Amino acid sequence: MSKFLSSRFAGLEAYVPGEQPQDQQYVKLNTNESPFPPSPAVFAAINEAEVGRLNLYPDPEGKALKQRLAAFYDVKPENLFLANGSDELLNFFFMAFCDKDRPVAFPAVSYGFYPVYASLYGVPACPIPLRENFRLEPRDYMGIGKNIVIANPNAPTGRTITVAEIEDIVRTNPDNAVLIDEAYIDFGGDSCLELVHQYDNLVVGQTFSKFRSLAGGRLGYGVGSPGIIADLELMKFSTNSYNINRLTMAAGIATLDSHEYYLNNSRTVQDNRAYTVSELDKLGFETLPSKANFIFTRCKAVDGDTIYRKLKEKGVLVRHWNKPEIADWCRVTIGSRAQMDVFLEKVREILKEAGQDA
Ligand SMILES: *Cc1c(COP(=O)(O)O)cnc(C)c1O
Repeated sequence: MSKFLSSRFAGLEAYVPGEQPQDQQYVKLNTNESPFPPSPAVFAAINEAEVGRLNLYPDPEGKALKQRLAAFYDVKPENLFLANGSDELLNFFFMAFCDKDRPVAFPAVSYGFYPVYASLYGVPACPIPLRENFRLEPRDYMGIGKNIVIANPNAPTGRTITVAEIEDIVRTNPDNAVLIDEAYIDFGGDSCLELVHQYDNLVVGQTFSKFRSLAGGRLGYGVGSPGIIADLELMKFSTNSYNINRLTMAAGIATLDSHEYYLNNSRTVQDNRAYTVSELDKLGFETLPSKANFIFTRCKAVDGDTIYRKLKEKGVLVRHWNKPEIADWCRVTIGSRAQMDVFLEKVREILKEAGQDA
């Protein structure tokens, strides 16, 4: 830290993303990316003609992509906000709606970026503890009169709440903004997107990073009432008008044009998830019910940090946090069947080395 850093940021602790080793030596199951490449239509869209226009700024309003997304979700372009990854949507949500008089509540075990944005903007954060087995109790959020951010499915647990439960939360906090972060909604969950037509305080966040194999392209979006979307646009046009680059815009449209390809990949991931959970069951692991492209699992015999470290030594990266309430657990991204077989083989080795007969 230099002497020039504003005192506003004195206690700020940045989000720590999962490791991104820049060589290919790991089976990478630590940041919930898709194991599948983008669709052939995306390869075709990033062509010479598109690269040839990189001397020109992209459309600051993203009209073509908004129109395609609007048709896809049967909403209007005014219901849509385009973000440089859904992390940027989160950033603008905190920037626009939260301050010291409008605190923000989110689950105590959830996406690690929520408390970071609260800290960045000096917003009081109210982490709400989860219940037994990391279950989110909707009544803990009803009528609390605070802004609310909930990931559904939650990360890193993979657990979901229902659309009716989300509606209860949104309806009973009419004077506060509610963000439902649906980064993982396309792996078996039910989206609450239709609620944006009834509730002007709801923003639904989604991303192209997970289900749509475009983490490197950085594209996310928010869906909400025209008023709340206009507030997010105000933040964007006061920060960076050109937040979505040309190539990503083209890739996004091509992605929506090849939805079947991605649905098929999601089915494969869901099959591999069921397979991995049942194999881990046989090895004495406890795994939370997941509707995401990852599972949260713990081994009764070997602690989470040891599993994480030994897997890494053996070339498999998973995610582990040294936070007391989740230190027993590891989050494992669901990849291809071949990747999951390597993961399971290494887990069996670790159990053997620990003297646990598998
Ligand atoms: C991955 C993730 C995001 C961010 O994804 P982007 O790549 O920025 O779109 C947001 N929320 C949750 C819960 C996530 O896991």
